[in-house]
Amino acid sequence: RLAPLYSPARVRELLTRHGLRPTKSLGQNFLIDGNILRAIAKAGGAAPGVPVLEIGPGLGVLTREIATRGAQVTALEKDERLRPVLDETLDGLDVQIVWGDALDFDYAALPPGTRVIANLPYYITGLLLSRFMRAPGIVSATVLVQKEVGQRLAAQPGGDNYGFLSAIAALYGTVRHVRDVPKGAFLPAPDVTSSVIRLDFDRTRAAPEPEFLTFVETALHHRRKTLRNNLRLAGLAGEAIDGALAACGLRPDVRAEDVPLGNLRDMAVKLGVVR
Ligand code: SAM
Repeated sequence: RLAPLYSPARVRELLTRHGLRPTKSLGQNFLIDGNILRAIAKAGGAAPGVPVLEIGPGLGVLTREIATRGAQVTALEKDERLRPVLDETLDGLDVQIVWGDALDFDYAALPPGTRVIANLPYYITGLLLSRFMRAPGIVSATVLVQKEVGQRLAAQPGGDNYGFLSAIAALYGTVRHVRDVPKGAFLPAPDVTSSVIRLDFDRTRAAPEPEFLTFVETALHHRRKTLRNNLRLAGLAGEAIDGALAACGLRPDVRAEDVPLGNLRDMAVKLGVVR
């Protein structure tokens, strides 16, 4: 009887037989831990008939875990060297592979109820998360990210790790830390600990206006600088900012990372950025 596909021995054998070496610049750290794979698929909501989008199937270990639960998987993979591997590891399963860069994919066209489940290539985590948030069809994203990114996603105003990523995550929905994942769960092992994070997007809310997202990004641009300074650097007049701060009951020297989103919204309205 063969060891499971995700066992270190099988992963090494697959790589050797196909003459492949994991590419660091593509974030290729393959999962070799069955418990983690099952935990991600389960937390992500993989179930019969659920449309699932995976980014970076790699050798197909997570893809298999999701597809064998009956989900309809679409997987985006950039590295065409993996074609013969995936032909082999996903044989007989209902998976559609889209070859190409995940940053070029049209997320707006995904069907409603789509769930993202992925061990993300870490070098484009932020970009991908913002694509997921903006795609109306995606209802949740259960992703492996660097532990530090997970902490930023879940941070609250006033907290150490609070920043733009925390703010946009809160604007679109809720964030849950599922579990930490040690370096040893990957081959090759990455430099840092990872976390499984589940983001649930509330599609009943109106999507934040692009102007407001830009305003929040500007406000939080330089950590440690005051909100006033960040807005000044973005070209807003000092007098207008002072008036808006006073009208919103905020101290003139308040830092943006301490300001709750509701107050930032009030500021944006007072400054005429949004209505
Ligand atoms: N899902 C596999 C696993 O868990 O073992 C592999 C995960 S690995 C962290 C990231 C995967 O994303 C790799 O397969 C890599 O080739 C792929 N990838 C990297 N950059 C990509 C991009 N821009 N678009 C699509 N896939 C990409």
